[in-house]
This record gives sequence, structure tokens and C-alpha cells, in this order.
Amino acid sequence: MTVISLEFFPPKTPEGVTKLATVRQQLYALKPEFCSVTYGAGGSTQDGTLAAVQAILAEGVEAASHFTCVGATRASVQDKLEQFRSVGIRRLVALRGDLPSGYGGYGEFRYACDLISFIRETTGDHFHIEVAAYPEMHPQAKSPQADLEAYAAKVRAGANAAITQFFFNADAYFRFVDETRAMGLDVPIVPGIMPITNASGLMRFADSTGADIPRWIRTRLQSFGDDSASIKAFGLDVVTALCERLRAGGAPGLHFYTMNQSTAVLDICQRLNGH
Ligand code: FAD
Repeated sequence: MTVISLEFFPPKTPEGVTKLATVRQQLYALKPEFCSVTYGAGGSTQDGTLAAVQAILAEGVEAASHFTCVGATRASVQDKLEQFRSVGIRRLVALRGDLPSGYGGYGEFRYACDLISFIRETTGDHFHIEVAAYPEMHPQAKSPQADLEAYAAKVRAGANAAITQFFFNADAYFRFVDETRAMGLDVPIVPGIMPITNASGLMRFADSTGADIPRWIRTRLQSFGDDSASIKAFGLDVVTALCERLRAGGAPGLHFYTMNQSTAVLDICQRLNGH
């Protein structure tokens, strides 16, 4: 049985909160190792993150809060860590985040590795820390080598594991893992998996994150036009095959970007488990 984890974002409306609670119950059938909730680097949804993480913990499932440091001060990070600790959170996905428009500068933490060092200095081993990894390179990195060094700095600062940006090129993932191993970095690197359910949404998301959609996938998606059943059927084939390849190649688990929906992830896992 493949180890899986699930990522959600904090809903903005009461209806969204109710819907997400239902989606979580459907997805708990997959027995996730943990569920994580994203954190708005701009600050607008941070209370929603905490509420969603607490709801997951109350449901008896391990939960991780994402936590970004862009624009933060040491004092504000310390307060937030205290708050996480006081509600029983033991797991963080520690990130820099992207500078929201209107922010003058990065604040007292320039890179995610600075945040991780600070968390370890102030709270020791209390938190299990995951970090982001980019098999196809972070879009702002100077070079793949510079990005590998940035990843190494996060692991050396005390990260326990990594979750990747989504990708459709399994070779990029395997190469990234090999390169990090050659640098003596041996924390688990779990591939982030994006189900394909909507062509235009996927393209927009890929453009904003620097993830590559191979031409053969892009052209097929475009050829389906508004035929959403064909997009979903094709997406299910492509993403299941990617997961199978990653699993066969030794990926330590699969982290699903659920987009707060259950159907696509349930369908992929059902196929992976041979039902
Ligand atoms: P870093 O690791 O700090 O890297 C940022 C850039 O700086 C990279 O280009 C890197 O190469 C470079 N860099 C790092 N260190 C150095 C150095 N010492 N010298 C020079 N260059 C350096 N965003 C959110 O707002 N909220 C979320 O909840 C969220 N969750 C995410 C979860 C995952 C699994 C992933 C993959 C991304 C997530 N993001 C989230 C997006 C993330 O915040 C952005 O990709 C952001 O631009 C980089 O964050 P990071 O933690 O990877 O930064």
C-alpha cells in the first residue's frame, strides 16, 4: 500500500468549510499519513489555515500547517510557533512564500532555510518539518545547481522531509533525487501529484509555478475543448501512469494536491490499488 498525504487550502466561506469537511471524510478512506493545509503568504487566510488544521486533528488524523515567512519578523514567527504548539500542531511545511504585491521587502527572513534554522533554534525538535523541492527548478532560481544548493541549505538547516512542486516528467524527479543523494542529502523526497481535471486551470497554475506541462499533454488537453469527461478520463490515465512510475522507481510516498476535491484523487488511488 502506497503511503499518501493530502493537501487542502483553507476555504473562504462557511459553505466551503462544510464542503471541505465532507471531502476530507471521503478521502480519509485512503488512510493518509497526514493532511496539510496551505497558508496564505499575504496573511488573508491564515486563520482559516489554523481552523482547518485543528479540524483535521480533531478528526483523529495527523495534520501539518504550511507556514510562510515572507514579510514576517522574528517576533511574529515566534508568536505563531507558540500558537501552533498550543493547539497541538507537531508538523509544519516551512516555506518562504511569494512576495504579495504591495509588500516592500521580504522581512526578517530572506529564504525558507532562514525560517527553518529559526524554528530549530527556538523550538528544537518539537516540529517535524517538511520543505518544498523543485525537480524542474524553482522559477526564480539562477540555475538548477543554485536551486539544488538552496534545497541542500533547507535540509542542513533541519528539514525532515521534502514535498515537490507538481510535475509530469518523472525523469526530472528521479534525477533530482539522484543529485541530492550524491550531495549526501538523504531525507525522503515525496512527489507532489496534481490530478488533471480542468485544462485551463491546470495551464494557469503551471504557468504561475514554473511547472512544465509536456507538449503531448498540452495538445491533447487543448484538443478536448469543453469536453470535460474526456479531459478527466485522459487526466486519470496520465496521472495514474505517472504515480505508477514514481512508485516503481522508489518514491517514498505520494502527496496529492487535492484542490479540495475528492473524486480525482479517489479515482487515481483506486486504479493504483488495482480495484
Ligand atoms: P526557498 O527555498 O527560500 O527558495 C526560493 C528561491 O530562492 C528559489 O529560487 C531558491 O533557489 C532561491 N534561494 C534559496 N536560498 C537561497 C540562497 N541562500 N541564495 C540565493 N538563492 C536562494 N506558497 C504559499 O504561499 N503558501 C503555501 O502554503 C505553499 N505551499 C507550498 C507547498 C509545496 C509543497 C510547494 C512546492 C510550494 C508551496 N508554496 C506555497 C509555494 C512557495 O511558497 C513558492 O514556490 C516560493 O516562491 C518559494 O518558497 P520556498 O519555500 O521553496 O523558498
